[in-house]
Amino acid sequence: MRYVVSASQRIKTYRILFYFDDMKMTLLYIALTAIMMTACGSTGTTTTSETSGNDTTTATATASRKPFDGNGAMEFTRQQCEFGPRVPGTPAHAKCAEWLMTTLQASCDSVILQTGTVQTATEGKMGIKNVIGIINPKAEQRLLLLAHWDTRPWADNDPDPANHRKPVMGANDGASGVGVLLQLARQLKAEGTTLGIDIVLVDVEDMGVEDNEESWGLGTQYWAQHPHVGGYKPLFGILLDMVGASDASFSREYYSSYYAGGFVDAVWRCAAGSHFVNSQGGAVTDDHIFVNRAGIPCIDIIDMRTNSETGFNSVWHTVNDTMDGISASTLAEVGQTLLNVIADIEQQ
Ligand SMILES: [Zn+2]
Repeated sequence: MRYVVSASQRIKTYRILFYFDDMKMTLLYIALTAIMMTACGSTGTTTTSETSGNDTTTATATASRKPFDGNGAMEFTRQQCEFGPRVPGTPAHAKCAEWLMTTLQASCDSVILQTGTVQTATEGKMGIKNVIGIINPKAEQRLLLLAHWDTRPWADNDPDPANHRKPVMGANDGASGVGVLLQLARQLKAEGTTLGIDIVLVDVEDMGVEDNEESWGLGTQYWAQHPHVGGYKPLFGILLDMVGASDASFSREYYSSYYAGGFVDAVWRCAAGSHFVNSQGGAVTDDHIFVNRAGIPCIDIIDMRTNSETGFNSVWHTVNDTMDGISASTLAEVGQTLLNVIADIEQQ
């Protein structure tokens, strides 16, 4: 993904657009968001804490389910990194795809491997592998959860130019979001849910170039044009991207507010920790844009930094995006937020 512009610049330029868009969103989403308008987790919550090694995973959970296990998500994140960088077209990528299939098969009612071909900006045509796990396929009310699993072939934001053609390990940028979703699926398998859930692990998100929005999120663009079921219409979608840093800051991403503001409100009400910041962040070209353009409201939970030149944390698109920067407690916060959202919808 790439950072487009800071929130303050956006709001200055598009103040009027924002105003009319807010009006439009109110009308468009009033019926859909009504389903999530209650205060999330306002009753029956417990706070638990568990410690493993040097990392503490703390989460607030509804009484009916166990808290999200950040260490489990951490382990799934680590296992992806053990394949090496998951650069599309490499043996590590192919092996990881198989592992994602097997891992989701243990937790989901069915798993689909969606293959296709996309046109990249610089590498010609490229095969994609979107891995889709389906929970409760017959349930009408569905939640879409996404994360990209590929890693960028070039660490082109590395301070050392010698690293610019080396691949990114993508512990945070790729593996962290997938790790949370794999752990979530495992817990839902153990404890059950009445909600239909579709976990879409998208490929070839991160082969884009700076000046071309359409060059990003290629696996998602393919999926949006070829949804895994005809007439697919979930309540809304949540994309996870870079959700593992110990000092992560999840402010409200601009395009998420633009396309699906009511759902940003609803999810932030369910936020399970202090990494969620209730203020407007910047705008990021990411998979959620293409989901929204396909008519499915979708928000992005993504780590954005106001104090950085790139808009992201310092290891973004460098060779230092490794497991060293991943925190089980941050993963736990994000996973618990998803569990809270799911519980909230179930209770409607
Ligand atoms: Zn990236």
